[in-house]
Amino acid sequence: MKAGMSKSENQDRNVQCRLSHPADGLDKLITAARQVIETELALGGDVIVAGTNPLPEVTLKAGSAEVAAGGQENLTPQQKTELLAELEKEVASCNTCGLWKGRTNPVFGMGDPDSRIMFVGEGPGAEEDAQGLPFVGRSGQLLTGMIEAMGLTRNKVYIANVVKCRPPGNRIPTPEEAAACWGYLKRQIEIVRPEAIVVLGNAAARNLLETRVGISKLRGQWHQLWGIPVMPTFHPAYVLRQYSVENRKRVWSDLQAVMEKLGLKKD
Ligand code: SF4
Repeated sequence: MKAGMSKSENQDRNVQCRLSHPADGLDKLITAARQVIETELALGGDVIVAGTNPLPEVTLKAGSAEVAAGGQENLTPQQKTELLAELEKEVASCNTCGLWKGRTNPVFGMGDPDSRIMFVGEGPGAEEDAQGLPFVGRSGQLLTGMIEAMGLTRNKVYIANVVKCRPPGNRIPTPEEAAACWGYLKRQIEIVRPEAIVVLGNAAARNLLETRVGISKLRGQWHQLWGIPVMPTFHPAYVLRQYSVENRKRVWSDLQAVMEKLGLKKD
């Protein structure tokens, strides 16, 4: 990925490069176009790619009864911190799926282990891979702004991703990769036991909510994961790409619903 360019800018640039070399053939053009569309789908768009299953079914929720039964609900903040630290060590040496081969650093998650709110994105990008921290690029800056608009800070929420290692070329994780990594996110949710989860973008919503409905239809309404209220909203990268007043209002409306649910008020 070219330094200083966002993922979406790079995707556009890649397509332009391919278009400038028609001898590369139709297959490459189709592949490039599909890559751009898949990125849109992952972040927030509702584009349907003809001839593909845009939001494949993924069965990930085996063992969910443990959370539904509240198996971890009485943990102290100190216990949560220790359990997450142990889990992070497991992730650091994980090679369960092929994504470990391309990672510089695994991106486990960060924030308050005892937070009332968890934000869940799709997976690490280049900046996140370099720093080992979630949401630290341009999208991360917008997410930080969203969190601060709620009267909170990054240290007061918990931020994680569906997959902990960066997919090559910033592609969306495959269903198999998401399934392989699911156990880690599941444990994070069990340990933090947030009162609400904000799920960012199509790819994350697809995995958490096991749905093929696009984020535009999912957002703005409450969903459930093991009894935990889940509010889907647009991925910050999508908002940056489609930077309209309407989209920003939609995201803010979703976040306000979360604030209302948790009784949060801005100081
Ligand atoms: S993405 Fe998840 S399952 Fe795959 S290697 Fe990384 S930590 Fe392991």
